[in-house]
Amino acid sequence: MNRLKSILFFTAIAAVTFASLNFKKADKAKKPKKVIFLIGDGMGLAQISGAMSFYDGVNAFERFKVIGFSKTSSDDNYVTDSGAGATVFSIGKKTYNGAIGVAADSSSHENLFEKLKKKNCATGVVVTSSVTHATPACFYAHVSSRKSEEDIAEFLLKGNCDIAIGGGMKFFTSRKDGRNLNNELAAKGYTTLSDTINPVKEIEAQKLVYTLSWDGMKTMQQGRGNYLKNASQLAIKNLNKNDNGYMLMIEGSQIDWGGHANDFEYMKAELRDFNEVINAVLDEAQKDGNTLVVVTADHETGGLSLIENKENKKTFKVNYSSGGHSGIMVPVFAYGPGAEEFSGIYQNTEIFYKFCKLLDLK
Ligand code: MG
Ligand code: ZN
Repeated sequence: MNRLKSILFFTAIAAVTFASLNFKKADKAKKPKKVIFLIGDGMGLAQISGAMSFYDGVNAFERFKVIGFSKTSSDDNYVTDSGAGATVFSIGKKTYNGAIGVAADSSSHENLFEKLKKKNCATGVVVTSSVTHATPACFYAHVSSRKSEEDIAEFLLKGNCDIAIGGGMKFFTSRKDGRNLNNELAAKGYTTLSDTINPVKEIEAQKLVYTLSWDGMKTMQQGRGNYLKNASQLAIKNLNKNDNGYMLMIEGSQIDWGGHANDFEYMKAELRDFNEVINAVLDEAQKDGNTLVVVTADHETGGLSLIENKENKKTFKVNYSSGGHSGIMVPVFAYGPGAEEFSGIYQNTEIFYKFCKLLDLK
């Protein structure tokens, strides 16, 4: 009997110890080593609902269990633009529309990529606009106006963005000041490639500026194909060479452009392309286990609604209320270590602070 008691006692001790060890492990696992941040520019709920209706493939948005909402207003306007809308993600401050990585008083503040470089982590952007367009620019540049794309390109020389893939070669090689930034970047250790020929080339380089179009990229309807998925996978492969982890921002830039044009088919093709990129990223993150995936938008574009279609009631009609952006909240989807941080309703600035907390950035 005594023997049975002591066996039970030691079994209980072992169970408690095992449970607490497991708890510590789970607690530690809540911080990601890698972050893939996907921004669907202009991607509100109506865009997702509409574009993903009657879709034969896998709806990537339905693979997320943690969902939140972000309030998108800027410092000077209830309806933000993409400059202010991405500046909040990179520096955590609401600013005026058109700003790139600077606060409302035009002061520069250290951005996520700069903080990550201090910790020797890798950083990158992959987009379907020029790499110097407002959304990606906010992650590595600090300028007072989004229109200064030649000035924005120069910020890549600072070395805080290891990988940049997208359009915009003219801002590097056909500049008003006559400089060739591709050569200057190469002198700083970057592999540079300006090449309008698809598909995306397999390039091994931890520092890479790869421009595939003169300005913005082709649309999906014009045959952009799997560019965004291939470019994202190329970036991930190269960023993974840094053992300290990385942050990659991938933008479905033209979801917004379809919205501005009030062209639902344009938007739908861009969003479905973005959906496939999210699927690929989630597959990668599932395999990796240390990757946090966050998908959101900077704002909604077009004031889109899906209304009754009297001719065919099983479908919908699209109704745009604006050629610009709207002030409605946008969804935030999160997967992986630290994902729970992103549930709830919060100001867009909080996304920056959540990344800082999870990546131990000061
Ligand atoms: Mg954008
Ligand atoms: Zn826009």
